[in-house]
Amino acid sequence: MEGRPQVIVVGAGPGGLFAALRLIELGLRPIVLERGKDVHERKKDLANITKTQKVDAESNYCFGEGGAGAYSDGKLYTRSKKRGNTDKILNVFCQHGASTAILADAHPHIGTDRLPKVIEAMRNTIINSGGEVHFKTKMTQLILDGDKVVGCVADKEYRGPVILATGHSARDVYRYLAEAKVEIEAKGIAVGVRLEHPSHLIDQIQYHSKQGRGKYLPAAEYSMVTQVDGRGVYSFCMCPGGFVIPAATDKEQIVVNGMSPASRGTAWSNSGMVVEVRPEDLDNVKNENCNNVSPELKVMAFQEDLERLCWQQGNMKQTAPAQRMVDFVSGKLSYDLPKSSYAPGLVSSPLHFWLPKMISKRLQEGFKVFGRQAHGFLTNEAVLIAVETRTSSPVRIVRDRETLQHVRIQGLFPCGEGAGYAGGIVSAGVDGERCAEACARMMSSRCHLDRTE
Ligand SMILES: Cc1cc2nc3c(=O)[nH]c(=O)nc-3n(C[C@H](O)[C@H](O)[C@H](O)COP(=O)(O)OP(=O)(O)OC[C@H]3O[C@@H](n4cnc5c(N)ncnc54)[C@H](O)[C@@H]3O)c2cc1C
Repeated sequence: MEGRPQVIVVGAGPGGLFAALRLIELGLRPIVLERGKDVHERKKDLANITKTQKVDAESNYCFGEGGAGAYSDGKLYTRSKKRGNTDKILNVFCQHGASTAILADAHPHIGTDRLPKVIEAMRNTIINSGGEVHFKTKMTQLILDGDKVVGCVADKEYRGPVILATGHSARDVYRYLAEAKVEIEAKGIAVGVRLEHPSHLIDQIQYHSKQGRGKYLPAAEYSMVTQVDGRGVYSFCMCPGGFVIPAATDKEQIVVNGMSPASRGTAWSNSGMVVEVRPEDLDNVKNENCNNVSPELKVMAFQEDLERLCWQQGNMKQTAPAQRMVDFVSGKLSYDLPKSSYAPGLVSSPLHFWLPKMISKRLQEGFKVFGRQAHGFLTNEAVLIAVETRTSSPVRIVRDRETLQHVRIQGLFPCGEGAGYAGGIVSAGVDGERCAEACARMMSSRCHLDRTE
């Protein structure tokens, strides 16, 4: 692609990487800018979170090559099949070293131990095809010519249309867009905790057998959903045989999430247990931060406040506040806590007391329902670890349905989860491909116009 027209792709998560690969197929040259480090360097910063109890704001579980999907469970199923070709995404993963079993499995899964190699191979395809990938290169500004984007600023100026695939945790990007009057809007999210059970207990419940999974079956999955007081309460991103991990992106925050290795062989199974939060739910929340920001950033401000509160409850380190499940439901502080996969450590805390009531009350009711549906699920052997807030983007970067360009600004393609148009690895990949195609269409019609003029 050397010498071909270039497109700037900001973010090397699944959205950005699949956009870059599709641009190459379409005869365009992707220039990928990524604020974090390459997928292998990044690993050291993840280990440091447990060692030093500190989070590197540019290299963590959300930022760096592979994005939030790199050190994840690598579950590859999606409900949004209507939006694009999900088989293509799985095939591209296989071309870059993922097991072809993912093409046949009902619930395909790569595993956090295997994902980095696949991501590295995708990067090599981009570079070997004449594209560029720049690490430790943070976009700080778009270059606007009236209502048109002509590039962006990072370590230097990069010229070309911009596919903006910066993920749901790039709060500085949302703040910049709000200040620059690039239209964005507040979006609902889901907020709650990670719930961790011993995996043998989940196996016993799901396989209806005291022996659990036995020799041949995989660690069991579950999916729970109910409605409490008009809002959904549900399990999210279930990781059988996995770990709970510290997924904050800045200091003075605790955020938890989950991942699992390919074998799904740890002694624990976890899932996010979350409650739907809509922007209007925050109208009556007495919170200085929420009330002092512009309306489009208020859900993000709510997330931020809760993550800071959680950090304060966790002794101002990455040790996460936690409570046994039955104790939480009955409003009792846990006397002690069970063993957990969460490496930075847990501290006993009355989550029922300090989580916002619209979350804690609904979780308490939801857990009673799940306990009735799955005998043994509501147990003090399980522990709630706070707080799970990064379930999706708190902001939508509004785009046109047909052209996929920003509603006002030409040449800007908001992409993936951070733009509010995907949730998960596969759907972000699909959206990346769609944005690349839309960008190619725009560029060829511009060329056509130039020729006719
Ligand atoms: C721990 C964890 C486990 C998960 N498990 C799964 C799973 O099993 N299955 C699943 O489908 N989904 C999972 N997810 C969600 C999934 O990872 C995301 O939905 C997906 O990665 C979104 O892709 P994206 O490309 O839109 O954004 P991201 O993956 O968030 O990528 C955005 C990238 O942009 C970069 N960036 C941000 N700002 C800038 C800037 N200013 N300049 C340059 N670069 C920038 C970031 O560093 C990042 O690399 C998990 C998420 C986490 C955190």
